[in-house]
Amino acid sequence: MPYSYEFRIKWYQRLRVKALAFFVLLAISIIGVTTITMNVLSEEITRHTAYEKLSHSQQRVMTGLSDSTKIAATLANAMASVAVNTHEDEALLRSTLIQLINNTESSSLVIGGGVWPEPFRFDSTKERNSYFWSRDKRGELIFYDDYNQDDGNGYHREEWYVPSEYLHSGQVFWSKSYVDPHSLQSMVTVTSPMISSGQYIGATTIDLKLSGLHQLLEDSTKRFNGYAFAVDRIGHLLSFPDDKIARAQTTKVKLEYGPPFVTITELAQKHTQFRPFSSHIQQNHTPTPSTAENDKVYILGKKIAEKSYQVNFNEALIIANNIINPDKALNTKDDLKHVFSIDNDYFLKEPALAITTTMPSTGWQIITVIPLSEAIKTSNQLIATLNLSIAIIMLIAIILASLLLKRIYANPLKELMNNLKDNIDKDNVDSFIKVKHTSEFGELAHWFNQRTNELLATQEQVNSLAFYDPLTGLPNRKMLKIHIDKKLASAQKNKTCGAIIYLDLDHFKIINDSLGHDIGDQLLIEFRKRLDACLRKEDMAGRLGGDEFIVVLSVPNFKNHDKTKVPSAIAQQILSSLAEPFSLAGNSYHITASIGIAFFDEHSKNTEEILKYADSAMYNSKSNSRGGFCFFETGMQIKADKRLRIEKELRHAINNNELSLAYQPQITHDNKCPSLEALVRWIHPQDGYISPLDFISIAEESMLILPLGDWVVTNVCQQIKTWENQGIIFDHVSINISPIQFQQVDFIHKLSHIIKEVGVRPEKIMIELTEGVIINNPDRIAGKIVRLRNAGIRVSIDDFGTGYSSLNYLKKLPLDELKIDRSFIQEITKNHADAVITETIINMAKSFGYSVIAEGVEEAEQRDLLIAKGCNYFQGFFFSKPLPPDDIPTYVKNLEPFITKNTYDI
Ligand code: C2E
Ligand code: MG
Ligand code: MG
Repeated sequence: MPYSYEFRIKWYQRLRVKALAFFVLLAISIIGVTTITMNVLSEEITRHTAYEKLSHSQQRVMTGLSDSTKIAATLANAMASVAVNTHEDEALLRSTLIQLINNTESSSLVIGGGVWPEPFRFDSTKERNSYFWSRDKRGELIFYDDYNQDDGNGYHREEWYVPSEYLHSGQVFWSKSYVDPHSLQSMVTVTSPMISSGQYIGATTIDLKLSGLHQLLEDSTKRFNGYAFAVDRIGHLLSFPDDKIARAQTTKVKLEYGPPFVTITELAQKHTQFRPFSSHIQQNHTPTPSTAENDKVYILGKKIAEKSYQVNFNEALIIANNIINPDKALNTKDDLKHVFSIDNDYFLKEPALAITTTMPSTGWQIITVIPLSEAIKTSNQLIATLNLSIAIIMLIAIILASLLLKRIYANPLKELMNNLKDNIDKDNVDSFIKVKHTSEFGELAHWFNQRTNELLATQEQVNSLAFYDPLTGLPNRKMLKIHIDKKLASAQKNKTCGAIIYLDLDHFKIINDSLGHDIGDQLLIEFRKRLDACLRKEDMAGRLGGDEFIVVLSVPNFKNHDKTKVPSAIAQQILSSLAEPFSLAGNSYHITASIGIAFFDEHSKNTEEILKYADSAMYNSKSNSRGGFCFFETGMQIKADKRLRIEKELRHAINNNELSLAYQPQITHDNKCPSLEALVRWIHPQDGYISPLDFISIAEESMLILPLGDWVVTNVCQQIKTWENQGIIFDHVSINISPIQFQQVDFIHKLSHIIKEVGVRPEKIMIELTEGVIINNPDRIAGKIVRLRNAGIRVSIDDFGTGYSSLNYLKKLPLDELKIDRSFIQEITKNHADAVITETIINMAKSFGYSVIAEGVEEAEQRDLLIAKGCNYFQGFFFSKPLPPDDIPTYVKNLEPFITKNTYDI
């Protein structure tokens, strides 16, 4: 199937679009995967972010608290050392203490402070001898003596006092929250032991107001939109965002700053939303009560509980634990155990995350709560930023990749394509692609060029095979047709004229068949050389096939110019070149050619027609006289067409037994008829009688001569048999044998076979060969004739004298008869030369021992003269026309002897 050059790609089939689509898909998938991953991770990220925020917030709270409590602890410690050292000078003690308590740095938190010696320690007369100051509403420090009153509880069994006995020097103890009866504020107390010479002599205290604590916690958590609160070691709230719900509902004391704080457990009972806090704080806070009697915490707890009327055993255990293991309750920021979530926070009105941390020094638990939405917001922001970054990176990557793709692939590819297309558009099929690129495209171009190179070489080979005759190297039929097409087109366009010489080598088939194809091939090669020598540069010769050649000539076409001149001259030259025999394999061969010439010009239809005309002219020339040339005339085509028709119909006639045989008597000088010549007859249903002269040549060209010849031989033999049965015995019957038949390898075998088959004696058959058969390679022919003779068959040379037979080879041939050609007999009585030739032939034949017969005898004079010249036999209309076989018996019976005049002198 021929390759279609139409090739268009749609925009979406372009590599760039496909690549872009690929990248976009890739980007979408990456973003998709990232988004999915992010979503999966978002919970984790949220948790992490929340925890980060929480711990950060808690850190701030803890730092703030520890700073404030440190100041209080330091103050208490400082007071302790002042008291230890100056208690003997009461005035100094008092003024130093006031200065310490009134410290500006801690004024926002510190509300009071005091020194609480052991009974009778500072003054051997006083069991209760405390010095205590507290701020009034205006912030002024007022000295109070309440704990020293005789009717009061005193201070030695107070919750904030009892544990101080068990503290090391510098260690402090933080009380639970309470409402100060003087300042009426919620507060806590930090107690420091006074130790003099390694002996415990009492304690000092600093009181902190919890409203300051509340402020500190609020400030530390504001940034995270959360809140924080603190509980003391027994779960008492020390601060809370909403005082109203965190204070005791009923109290006997009407307090200026509100009732005291409730415990977290109490709060959780009131508001279920606080349950997570209470459970966590309890869980976090409650130490496992030790039951071991010898456990340090147990022993100390027991002591504290016994000494203080305000502390139960459980609480005492907590206090003991706090004193003995000050760091045990501490949890670090990494300690996730203390983080818990709240489904719906009371204050934040949303899910929240909370953490509890125990302050080591105070034993307080600080609870920080932050809203989860904050973390979700942050994590969403993080994810969104991440997604956006990925999208931007992907976009940039796609743009860069697409530019790179364009630069690396699309541009060179397009360049290659354009280059190739350009070559195709300009019909430069044999040109190569420019190798510009050092990449694979350069390599592709290189290999493409290499392939083109190979293809061109192959094409050249194919061309030579397809368009040239491998034997002679001449253009073949295909090429000739292309060439004539072109010439015709040019003639039509430019109104010029050209000519075709159609050349056919006569009897080449015979040479080929008889001498073998090698000799035939050599002859063709030699002929090509001679043909070349006859042509001009502008002429083109080619081989149509077999022995047919074509020469395409350019013919000048100007006014009054005889256009036949050039073709005639060239045709004549070709014919003359054949006069010289061909020397092949040590022998010389003679060959003639028949030439037909046809012109073509602007009016010519097509190449086929021109070739047909030239072919017809060639046939005309062949039938006129072989070895000549002839121009095409209108009638020839009709003849040529007729020829074709005849060939078809002859085939039909042979197959349908439409042929018949006529027999022409051969007469002796005494008017006897010893033999006959069989002549084939064809009465065409439409055209009537067709002469063998017209159809034998057609039969030879179409090889129909072989079945025809077999038919003739068979019929003749059967006829002889029929006559013999009727008692009419002939010496022989002559059968015309075509050179084609004779050249067949199995000719003798076949002939003998038929003769034997029918059952006649071989001597009854004489074959007539024409001179043409024996001209070439007489030695081979002689051999064949000998074999024929050995088989009993007789041989005659028909139309003798028209060929170029040399006497030399004639004597080599073991012939039976020579038949003098009719052309000599016709004029024999008038033309002296003919008479001489005839006599020479007669004499020669006799000298070789051949009998001699004259054909075409039409007059008695001719017969008489031939008798006089010594001719033995005669054949011609004078005696009889060829007769139907049934007429022969009558003809033979009616023959009467006659007397020759024999009066002719030559
Ligand atoms: P040919 O073999 O030379 O046959 C003699 C031809 O001369 C015959 O023509 C015959 O009718 C004709 N002829 C005989 N006497 C006279 C005469 O007095 N005057 C004139 N003008 N002609 C005479 P025909 O039958 O037309 O045959 C023509 C040629 O056809 C034969 O020439 C022979 O070469 C060929 N031919 C005929 N029959 C056969 C055949 O069966 N096989 C082959 N291969 N060729 C045949
Ligand atoms: Mg004959
Ligand atoms: Mg003859």
